Amino acid sequence: MRSHPDSRFYQSLADPAEFTLTFELVPSRGGRSKEHARTLELARHAAADHRLQAVSITENAGGHAALSPEVLGLEIRAMGLEVIVHFSCKDKNRNQMESQLFAWDRLGLRDLLVITGDYPKEGYRGFPKPVFDLDSVHALDLISRMNAGRFSADDPLRQRAPIHPTGFISGVALSPFKRLEAELMMQYIKLHRKVAAGADFIITQVGYDARKFEEVLLYLRHHGLDLPVLGNVFIPNLAVADLMHQGKIPGCIITDELHALIRHEAKGADKGKKARLMRAAMLLAVLKGLGYSGAHIGGPGLSYRDIEFVLDEAEQLAPDWRALTPGLSFWHRDGWYYFEKDEETGLNRPEPSPRTAQGREVLRYQLALAMHRLVFTPHGPLYGPMKKLSLALADGPLAKFLDHGEHVLKFLMFGCQHCGDCTLAELAFACPQSGCAKYLLNGACGGSRDGWCEVYPGRKRCLYVRIYERLLESGTVERLKTGLVPPRNWALNNSSSWVNFYQGIDHTGKAG
Ligand code: SF4
Repeated sequence: MRSHPDSRFYQSLADPAEFTLTFELVPSRGGRSKEHARTLELARHAAADHRLQAVSITENAGGHAALSPEVLGLEIRAMGLEVIVHFSCKDKNRNQMESQLFAWDRLGLRDLLVITGDYPKEGYRGFPKPVFDLDSVHALDLISRMNAGRFSADDPLRQRAPIHPTGFISGVALSPFKRLEAELMMQYIKLHRKVAAGADFIITQVGYDARKFEEVLLYLRHHGLDLPVLGNVFIPNLAVADLMHQGKIPGCIITDELHALIRHEAKGADKGKKARLMRAAMLLAVLKGLGYSGAHIGGPGLSYRDIEFVLDEAEQLAPDWRALTPGLSFWHRDGWYYFEKDEETGLNRPEPSPRTAQGREVLRYQLALAMHRLVFTPHGPLYGPMKKLSLALADGPLAKFLDHGEHVLKFLMFGCQHCGDCTLAELAFACPQSGCAKYLLNGACGGSRDGWCEVYPGRKRCLYVRIYERLLESGTVERLKTGLVPPRNWALNNSSSWVNFYQGIDHTGKAG
């Protein structure tokens, strides 16, 4: 772990003897609202309670526009509390991201949670343009370059003057709460890319299953990934539990069984509040027992007394945490786990579970791969002739003919959007520009549910589930763990990717 003398939060994470506690705050719509005053009040109590090391502040949570996080962040930091600001890819392009990072570095807001972000929801006079110019792996890579201050040295696309190194710490999200093997594996596979791009710590997604939480730690150990992890202790009220159960909050799952229990508890005089807080305290104790570096607490409408109650109860329960795990097993009965079950403890054995996902769209993939090898690999028999033809036509009167021909063919085969910087070969011949609502190039977001895309549930399967299934059959799925598909170069938009490839000006020629 890097040293970061300014951050009490990060110092706490780096100390194995400490159990780091953070709390999530959601900025309101407007900085002069009652909710804003309530949020500040909550933060004031948190600052006085030295058990909490930091609060995290969401950025346009759920895809809704809200007060930008640095405003709330600065107010809270002035109270003496550390702040983790969420940095998402949904609403800004790469230049705006850089600009915001310069500003946050200047303001001293340097602990980040770098996420893809939820798909934007309705705003001023309709739905906004979903930006997603960079994905979370790109954003981490950008931040690492800014931290190194060597931005121009190995930036293949633009030569720029060196900058004064920034000092960011980058957290990333991980969801083990995915029902299908393909979805879960894509979360873990993407984590490898995030770590290579500079991730410093992990916060898990929301869930109430001890075996799943243990799975994350075992996976990291099994793969030599040495990162501190904060387990998510989210305390939903009934309304939010309903929404999560219905799949209306991307990536957050409340199973049938847990939902039925919460509904039953809600019939009590306190509307089930004590039961929900006790379950959170149990989870907190279990996370500590499992060896998590800390916990990230959150939930709508909580008072600071509620949080104190959870912290106090968890302390009492901690010594006997193993006895609590059977009461925290809320996951789909048919949900896939990375490790085999230990029947004695109800947790995991060290042996990975067999991969049973079905390889689909395999013939399509193999045909496209064979064509690619013929034409686009230097030893392919058609590489030389095709290169000559493309370059000969590139600047002549027939250039448009070649460009249109390529686009029509690739549109029919892959849904090509004419980006000019083709990534089909890296992504099992599935086009992210038409197949992924967020145009992601380095792995799935956390929003899929039962294999469906967050944005088109029941209508469009997650692109990365399809990619996993295509590569599974050929035994090459593991290769997705390494490498970084660089961000799309918009200078090539609406041009022939074949010509760009043979001229060496697309990402394959320029990537480091
Ligand atoms: S296709 Fe998958 S990765 Fe892309 S937005 Fe939908 S759920 Fe996320």
